[in-house]
Amino acid sequence: MLLLLALTSSVTRRAIIAAPVSAAAAGQVSGSASATQQSSAAPPPAALLRSVSEAARAGTLGPMAMWPDPVLRHVAAPVDDFGPVEQFSQMLVDGMESTAIAATQYHVNAQIIALRGASSPLPGPLVLVNPRVLARSPEEQMRPWREVCLVLPPGLEVDLLRDAWVTVESADSAGRRSTRTLRGEPARAFQHEYDHLRGVLIVDHADLADLPAESELLAQRTAAADAGGTVIGCSFWLGYPAPLYYEDVLDVAARLGEGCPALTPGRLLRRAEFETALAASRPRGAQLRGRDGSPLPSLTRGTGRGSQQPPSALAVDAAWTALSGGSSYVSPEEVARQLGRWRPEPAVFVLDEFERSLLAGRAGVASGYLILFGMQALALALFVVQPLWEAAVGAT
Ligand SMILES: [Zn+2]
Repeated sequence: MLLLLALTSSVTRRAIIAAPVSAAAAGQVSGSASATQQSSAAPPPAALLRSVSEAARAGTLGPMAMWPDPVLRHVAAPVDDFGPVEQFSQMLVDGMESTAIAATQYHVNAQIIALRGASSPLPGPLVLVNPRVLARSPEEQMRPWREVCLVLPPGLEVDLLRDAWVTVESADSAGRRSTRTLRGEPARAFQHEYDHLRGVLIVDHADLADLPAESELLAQRTAAADAGGTVIGCSFWLGYPAPLYYEDVLDVAARLGEGCPALTPGRLLRRAEFETALAASRPRGAQLRGRDGSPLPSLTRGTGRGSQQPPSALAVDAAWTALSGGSSYVSPEEVARQLGRWRPEPAVFVLDEFERSLLAGRAGVASGYLILFGMQALALALFVVQPLWEAAVGAT
């Protein structure tokens, strides 16, 4: 299984490393990057950090710290004065841009995590103050996840392993301690935020060799921020002249919904027809879901294209390449096989399967060019270089 995952990661340039919570709780940090970053990085200047009461007095969370802000490497202090915690927790929950957040992401030096929506084990939000991990699932039960993080360049995804369940003791915002066991998405989200409280980021769970260079990450962040979108993880490897945005891919995937004329089964599909049909269709279905049935994350930074605009040409090319392997027509059997992988139901879109098909298709396109150039080089050698050479040799 690990080998399989490792092979996958070598294709998508993402890394997998086990990061048991217990090792982390003991103060050890998993992953080669974090060890060096934590030991070499100087602590952030005190001015960059606020206390809970300062934040509560200010009444605003302020901007989120963005990597490489040194605040993100700070180990949060435990809360001892619960006076302003209730007010601050409410600010944190109200200001959440995702389903999970840690106080340090807003420069607040306090061990406070908020979970809500799919990441909360309760019907409402859950605030965990001074959390401690008491127990965790056995090592062999660790679950693979693909994670993103709001503080990192959009589009950067890391495959990692998280404990299947964790038993956590924590206080609520009034200081009452309790113990609960988190499973599934709440367990994953808690471990991600618990990492934040200790200055650990998802990139620390990836092997350094598997991450793009720091300058490239910064460039990605700037480019994506300029364009107002999220670059999908495999974009770098596709060889497109511009980044491929997640929002554009989702827009095209939504147009491939039920009844899309381009996907009528039983006949050969040509690229031109596919493009025309996609341009004429509108994104169908309210919300695309992921493989496990959960709604795909709505990305607050992305602008999306909206249903009134034509689909992105790059995303249409990507959808066609994933469907056809890069040729100019595709058989109905292959359409069915591909859709079964990355769009098993009209409202379900499995991004990692799509990326795999897309990478395979782009590799097919690249090898097609290589073969073409190779044949041209051979023809040149046989019909031009060789006769010239023979003439030259014959002349001497
Ligand atoms: Zn994060």
